[in-house]
Amino acid sequence: MGLRARNRETRQAVGSVSVEIYEAVLNRIQSTIGKSDFEEGGKLLGRLRNDGRNLLITVESYIDSGPGVSHSATHLHPNGEYQERAFRLVEAFDSEIEHLGSWHSHHCNGLPELSNGDISGYIRSVNNPQYNLDYFVVILINGLVRGNLEKRYFLFERHKLNEYIELSEGRDVKIIHRTSQLDPILASAESLSNSRRRQVGQHFSVQKERELPPQKSVNPLNKIRLEDKEWIIARFPNAKLSRSKADGSVYWNWFIWREPGRLQVSFKYPTEATIPTPGTAYLEIRFRDEILVSEDIALDRNRFGQIQNRLNSAEANLKIKFQKNTTKTDVVKGTTGTFYRKIGVKPTHLTRNKGQTRGQTYTFDKKG
Ligand SMILES: [Zn+2]
Repeated sequence: MGLRARNRETRQAVGSVSVEIYEAVLNRIQSTIGKSDFEEGGKLLGRLRNDGRNLLITVESYIDSGPGVSHSATHLHPNGEYQERAFRLVEAFDSEIEHLGSWHSHHCNGLPELSNGDISGYIRSVNNPQYNLDYFVVILINGLVRGNLEKRYFLFERHKLNEYIELSEGRDVKIIHRTSQLDPILASAESLSNSRRRQVGQHFSVQKERELPPQKSVNPLNKIRLEDKEWIIARFPNAKLSRSKADGSVYWNWFIWREPGRLQVSFKYPTEATIPTPGTAYLEIRFRDEILVSEDIALDRNRFGQIQNRLNSAEANLKIKFQKNTTKTDVVKGTTGTFYRKIGVKPTHLTRNKGQTRGQTYTFDKKG
């Protein structure tokens, strides 16, 4: 597991933490990610007061990632030189302003957590001798859903190499209805950065869902995952996207309630190594500990139909099985005596046996 958000210890160390964010900051973030299908981000600016007991951080504005940013749907490397120069300009107006953290978005890939790379990067930033403060605030944008930003807040502290805390909106984080005087300058800078990116052919769509020029460096899986996200979330609102710690692959998990319980669905993408062909994803549908469907699904235009098909057949199998279950009981002699068991409640012969491999849709047989 390694690095985890742990609340208590840091909270004790600093007493209370409160973060105020100017509303204009979130509005600008929203308008930026609303126009982009790539990761976006910026350096947060504001003030920090620490009297030893209470830590008050005010996020007043931010510096965008600049022209010449390197980013895709799964990575973001801001233009550091630009950000440095922009900071010098801001400092000329307000010598007290500090760089106190950063924001970035996962709206384009749906990952709900900070990646390991994000975490180690933030730990490096807060421990950098050039960094002025002992705390580093992080805003992670997970999505833009019906005009609402989905966001999470984290706090990193100098010398804490293995932990950071998550702050919660309402309790620790308050949005205040204000705009920094610096914001119009930095908003103009951001829009110049964006038009500069468009001029040099960098990917930044003027309108979302517009046709975008193909990019050699872009992983074709990203586009597929975005389409899948839309399709899956619309049908299965409980669906969650995660990244496997074992091999780094990204997978969806969701469940569907059907008498007599729930179908557990997992849809796993190939690891990034298979670029440039997206290849196949692996679909598994389980009921309790039985695998009903275990199949590779080609990541092409037909995949939604394929997934739907397998869901339908899993449901049909479940129905057949359950209809049988409700009527018959079977006497089973066990070593501890005779007991009654409903046929098919746990047909262990249906878990994947040696002879059975992926690519088979299981059906329930009558042996019970
Ligand atoms: Zn990230």
